[in-house]
Amino acid sequence: MCVGPLKKICHWGPLSALATIKIITLMTIHCSRQWWPPQDSVPAAASFLLFFTLSGLTLFHFISAIFEGPGYLALKWMPEKASDMQYLQYCIVCQGYKAPRSHHCRKCDRCVMKMDHHCPWINTCVGHYNHGHFTAFLASAVGGCCVACVILISWVATVLSLRPLPFPPPTVYTLILVVFSIGLSIGVVLAVGMLLYFQILAIVRNRTEIEDWILEKSRYRRDDTDAKYVHPYSKGWRFNISQVLTWDCTPVGDGITWPVIDGCDQYTLTREQLAQKLEKQKRARKYRIIKAASGSKFPIGHGFGVFFHPLCTDEPRIKLDIDDIVIVTRWKKYWLFGEKERKEGEETKSKRIRGWLPRPCAVEIIEKSVWFR
Ligand SMILES: [Zn+2]
Ligand SMILES: [Zn+2]
Repeated sequence: MCVGPLKKICHWGPLSALATIKIITLMTIHCSRQWWPPQDSVPAAASFLLFFTLSGLTLFHFISAIFEGPGYLALKWMPEKASDMQYLQYCIVCQGYKAPRSHHCRKCDRCVMKMDHHCPWINTCVGHYNHGHFTAFLASAVGGCCVACVILISWVATVLSLRPLPFPPPTVYTLILVVFSIGLSIGVVLAVGMLLYFQILAIVRNRTEIEDWILEKSRYRRDDTDAKYVHPYSKGWRFNISQVLTWDCTPVGDGITWPVIDGCDQYTLTREQLAQKLEKQKRARKYRIIKAASGSKFPIGHGFGVFFHPLCTDEPRIKLDIDDIVIVTRWKKYWLFGEKERKEGEETKSKRIRGWLPRPCAVEIIEKSVWFR
């Protein structure tokens, strides 16, 4: 069993990432020394050094992103001025207010400062404090794997060229490992490269993945009384980059107060979030469960439609019994998203049960009066 700091690493995500880094590094060093020995020429030494540096940086920023962590908001956090509470959402789990740009992460079980997303590969969130390290990790991994691809593919081409080899012939086992490493490297370049692109976009726009979603929803929100929502944190790309990508990857600011553009204030974003939440509550409908839901991702017994249309999301599926009441806020053809209503006498501080359920499990309760929470 892992204890202390090791606990953060002992998870399939970081372990498989470390294994990938290790195998690509070892195989590339092996092939590089055989195919283009660094002691032979200056370009050979330079490419060897380049790969070695990128591999080292990948490991360094990976470990830093894990141990630096995203930065958690203090439990029971409150704004300095009590009058500002009205602009903020309350987190039942952390028993405090959510500072602007903070969100509660279900997996970390804490409110995370400037939360971008929860990354299973580092087994923690990407947020205010590790955004720089995380992006540097992605960049060095992609760079390192590009160099690795060139070296590994050249080595394989030399081995398969049928000409006399300048090094001892490899075993089948080595050849398989090298081909496997090429596959891994190409996978990293494509998948991590895509992620890197989105992270750079997020930094340049000073807008996290969650804030993209809030902005998107604000465009569809029909509200004639409110002024149009403008994302308050983007003060030009140079400024935006300087907030995250510093030389030592320490971000600027405390993760609670943020520089904003003219015409916006600290609570421009949170007011929009509250307005969206209110709108969602107005849209919400009550449903009664008529067939128990197992909470499975691939439920059987609710018809072919549900079974063949599983959801592509890691949001939870909830377990429900007959006659449970669910407040539904999102609708899909075969699924509903909602929160289970607490039964009378149930403790109000207990965790909210929210998630997806197969649509055939529930029927809408039509009420005469409009329902308000
Ligand atoms: Zn929280
Ligand atoms: Zn998290």
